[in-house]
Amino acid sequence: MNKEIFDRISKLREQINIYSKEYYENDNPSVSDYEYDMLMNQLKSLESEYPEFVTEDSPTQKVGGKASNLFSKVEHIVQMASLQDVFSYDEVRAFDARVRKEITPQYVTEIKIDGLSVSLEYVNGVFTKGSTRGDGFIGEDVTQNLMTIKSIPKVLPDTLPYLEVRGEVYMPKSVFAKLANAQEENGEVPFKNPRNAAAGSLRQKDSKITAQRELDIFVFNIQRIEGKRLTTHKEALDYLKELGFKVSPMYNLTDDIEKAIKDIETIGENKKSYPFDMDGAVVKVNNLTDREALGSTAKYPKWAVAYKYPPEEKSTTLLDIEISVGRTGVLTPTAIFEPVLLAGTSVSRAVLHNQDFISEKDIRIGDTILVRKAGDIIPEVVKSVSHGLNSTPFIIPDVCPSCHTRAIRFDGEAALRCVNPACPATLLKNLTHFASRDAMNIDGLGPAIVEALVENKLIKSPADLYYLKKEDLLSLERMGDKSADNLLNSIKNSKQNDLSRLLFSFGIRNIGKKASELICDKLDSMDKLMSAETKDIEAIEGIGEIMAVNITEYFSLSQTKTLIERLKAAGVNMTHESNVAFDTLNGLTFVVTGTLEKYSREQVKALIEQNGGKVSSSVSKKTSYLLAGEAAGSKLKKAEDLGVKILSEDEFENMLKNS
Ligand code: NAD
Repeated sequence: MNKEIFDRISKLREQINIYSKEYYENDNPSVSDYEYDMLMNQLKSLESEYPEFVTEDSPTQKVGGKASNLFSKVEHIVQMASLQDVFSYDEVRAFDARVRKEITPQYVTEIKIDGLSVSLEYVNGVFTKGSTRGDGFIGEDVTQNLMTIKSIPKVLPDTLPYLEVRGEVYMPKSVFAKLANAQEENGEVPFKNPRNAAAGSLRQKDSKITAQRELDIFVFNIQRIEGKRLTTHKEALDYLKELGFKVSPMYNLTDDIEKAIKDIETIGENKKSYPFDMDGAVVKVNNLTDREALGSTAKYPKWAVAYKYPPEEKSTTLLDIEISVGRTGVLTPTAIFEPVLLAGTSVSRAVLHNQDFISEKDIRIGDTILVRKAGDIIPEVVKSVSHGLNSTPFIIPDVCPSCHTRAIRFDGEAALRCVNPACPATLLKNLTHFASRDAMNIDGLGPAIVEALVENKLIKSPADLYYLKKEDLLSLERMGDKSADNLLNSIKNSKQNDLSRLLFSFGIRNIGKKASELICDKLDSMDKLMSAETKDIEAIEGIGEIMAVNITEYFSLSQTKTLIERLKAAGVNMTHESNVAFDTLNGLTFVVTGTLEKYSREQVKALIEQNGGKVSSSVSKKTSYLLAGEAAGSKLKKAEDLGVKILSEDEFENMLKNS
């Protein structure tokens, strides 16, 4: 046995398996597709030279990916195979030659969409099941998530007894750009490219998240069909179109491989104009009987080939790394490099995400770097090719570039954040949150007024709100006398708010409304809060270590101390009274419906909660009481059907009094 070859093969397989897991299971690759493809190519050629080393579990022999346990499993009756990749036109010609040995082909050339492969099953014309590819034989049941994709027909015009189609779910480039931006701003690790974003969005436990991601699909194959006979692939695509599917955006028919190569060329030239990301072109045999004659390997059909375009990457010099701070306080490093032309535009900047990204790639100012556009849209640094002379590793300074306060890297987070409540960069967001309904509930102080106040330099911190004068407000455009009075009144009223609201209004990382209440139930004055140590806060039921650290970090800032002193001086309440006044309704769940005479919905909800009860929005067997006002409708009917007790407003009040 040739030990050296065996070791090389084993090493390659091990590395490829690691990358496959990152890509298919975690939706988070650490190397580019091109780098991965080149490793796979090395393995393929070693295995073809030394076939004695080929094993069944080699990555060259099986479809990547494994169904995760997050979803129930779906067995694919027709294997969801992969495609044979080629990287040159000569390899496409060699494919044609192999095919011609068996049949006389006609080919269909299509765009290869870069997303993730799914199967959609229809029984009697109704969409019943959707699944991912997994290892080609067992995939994940993602029906609910696929239901959220608008372009997937839920009912077909033809009630075929059975139909299974295969398609590629993708995220449009524009949606990807929006999502990556928002993730960057929130200090989350953004998806690397539209494909990973699509896979990460479809493989969500909560289909509401999938629905927000605006995924789309192109359908490119019929896997199984009953009730209709089709003889060619083109006919199948035409029929799918008639059924209302969004099929491959282009499918050209030819019997000449040179014409198919011309199509591949045209697809490549138009690459950047497509609103979706693509990673190649697929040439497929058109006749379905011919396909059967050609057959498949364990991994891919012998009747198709995928041409992969070389990546458009350029090398350039990294001139600087600029740090900026966004609305949420996240510090973001950006590479500034000598301009290069990529996917049709001149590019000179790329986001470097966070310290981990910079350190892993060891990116330094002065380096020669390789850059490209992820999904043809977002510039990114692929790697550092070589370091400049006398360069040193780059460390992001832990200082906010806007207010120069020390920035903090919270446990478990990749980003550095500025948490200064008075930082000009985060002021708008902080003030809007401060005034919001669950925080200080300042009626009339919405984002537009906050913006106007900041723009006119009338406020620089939440404390300034309590020092505003009527003439200040009247100086704002479109602010009338009455609105100014109302706003000043709301600001004044908010001084009486409970300490738990004030604590929540500071917008401390991970400290929501409920956590603020729990903390204030134990530390019921601002002085106690400010002097509490991490361990005191962590000891509170429902509060974790990270939350406790965030609070002590926040109160240790000199800017926080100034803010609180000024709030105190303005007469803002600094004490807490426990919300749960009585426990008369402890363990009871209420649903409120219809119009109540004495209370607004908000008031009755607060009353129930203050007395230890819970309010739910829908009636179920678990509902203890339905509180029904005038003109109660379907909820009343449902409560009656389920035998849930129904209370009038008077009965509800008596219940509170009697207990
Ligand atoms: P593939 O992506 O190269 O090709 C097969 C897939 O193409 C099918 O599953 C199908 O869903 C899709 N497809 C899109 N449009 C199509 C069309 N019009 N007709 C037919 N199929 C179409 O193969 P694969 O096995 O899914 O994945 C391997 C590739 O994934 C690699 O070549 C590499 O580019 C990438 N990958 C990257 C990493 C990494 O770490 N960067 C790791 C693993 C895989």
